[in-house]
Order: sequence, then C-alpha cells, then structure tokens
Amino acid sequence: MHDSHIHLNLEPLNRNIPEIIDTFVSNGGKHILTQSTDNVDIQETLDIAAKYPDIIDVALGLHPTIFEETTILKGRNKNLYEFCNRYINEFESQFEKNVRKVKAVGETGLDYFQFNLNQSILRAQQEELQEIQKLSFRRQIALARKYNLPLSIHARDIQGRKDTVRDVLRILVEEGKGEVRGSFHSYTGDISFIEDILALGFYVGFNAIITYPSGENVREILKQVPLDRILFETDGPLLPPQSVRKDKKIKEKFGQPADVREIIEVAAEIKGVSMEKLESITDENYKTLFL
Ligand SMILES: [Zn+2]
Repeated sequence: MHDSHIHLNLEPLNRNIPEIIDTFVSNGGKHILTQSTDNVDIQETLDIAAKYPDIIDVALGLHPTIFEETTILKGRNKNLYEFCNRYINEFESQFEKNVRKVKAVGETGLDYFQFNLNQSILRAQQEELQEIQKLSFRRQIALARKYNLPLSIHARDIQGRKDTVRDVLRILVEEGKGEVRGSFHSYTGDISFIEDILALGFYVGFNAIITYPSGENVREILKQVPLDRILFETDGPLLPPQSVRKDKKIKEKFGQPADVREIIEVAAEIKGVSMEKLESITDENYKTLFL
C-alpha cells in the first residue's frame, strides 16, 4: 500500500507524525510521497521525511493557487508578474539545493477553478494569474526534465469547463517534449481527456472521492484507467474517506495515509479484481514511477 499524494507538513497531520506513520505501517503501508506547495513548506517537508527515509519520499513543487494566495489575497495588487517570477526563482534555487533528496516535482500544475470563486479577484487579474501559473508550470517541467524526475500534477477546471486540463496537456507536450512522466493527482476533470493522459504515458491518482456518494464521475474515470496506470493517494489532510466523514463520533476529520486501505477496497470492487492484486500492481506502479 502507498500514498502517492499527501501534505504531511499541514495541520493536523504534522502534530502527530509518529502515530500516523505507525497506523499506516501496521495497515501494510510501504511508501508515502509527501508534497510541498510553496516556498515555506519546503524545509518542513524535508525535515519530516528525513526521520523516515525508508517510508517517506519527497516531492517539491509550487501549487498553482499559491500565486493568488501570496499576492492579491494578501493585499498585493501591483507587479504580480515580477513578484511571482522572483518567487519561482527562489523555489528553483531551493529545489536545486535539495535535489538529491527529491523523488518528484510537485505539487505543480494549473488551477482556473479557485480564483474564479473569489469575487475580489478581477477578471484582468485572473488572466494575469493564468499566465503566471503557466510560467511556473513550464519552469517546473523544465526542472523535471533536467533531473529526470516525475511530475505530480494538479489540474482543476471550473465545473463544466475544459480549459485547465487542455492547457496542462498542451504545455506538457510543448515543454515536456515526450520526455516527462508523472501522475495526474486527484483527477476530476473531463473523462474525454483520459485517453490523452494515458497516451502521454501518465498515471492517474485516485483518492477518497471514489468512496463518496458524490464521486460517481471519478468512479467512471477509474473504470477507464488500466491497472498498470493507477496510483492511490489521500491528498491528506483533505478528503477523509466516507467511513470517517459519516462517523459522528470523530470530531477532527482529515485524510491520512492509512485511509488508502478503504480506497483500495472500493477501487477493487469497481475494477472487479481482488484487493491483493490491485494493491500489488499499484505498489509496483509507485515504484516504477517514483523510486
Ligand atoms: Zn495536494
């Protein structure tokens, strides 16, 4: 069992790493890929992983939504492009300094969903943020190529739209030139792109959304992805599995690596294979891509 996408440095996971790792291992867990999203969590992420070198692997990346979070949402409205460009430069230098400890570039990608929800972000600013996200994504793909590392990609569209995933795929082709590999984590986009994602050689990461009553579209996506391209993840501390969501006795609800057990159970049923078979194939997928 593996968790190919989580943020162990975030609350409440970071408060109890030993117990979380213990629960994971006693449930048959082998590997966790914890991912940074901004320049602040790089060191925290590396420090957590350093304590469990055989279990925790590290991905370093810039999440696409950090650009609105470090500028407009903090009251900075001018010279966004320059500010963000410096932010990406700082990321690159920290990444290069730590590259020997890194197994993947991520979390990276594009997100046209989040800034669209926010009324205070003007249309022109949204367009500027899109350009900044693309620049950041291109530069992270370049890092992946330079160091021969896989990508962990976040691609989130506004409901019913396709431009985010379309741009991600186009940039992967332009910048990756057929030489980058990776995973589309928590893919909730249009099912018609699955063919392209697979044709590019990418894997697809499935999490607790498949355990939710509302997860029908992602269960349909799972049906289309062959066993040798499936990865599991929690995206913890987000997305607790359905058993935790509906348990009224649990006060603090969050996703953690051991939840992959419940995700595999549901996925095995959808794919019509045994849990053991699915687990061993997908653990091999994790090793092939990240180790
Ligand atoms: Zn994430």
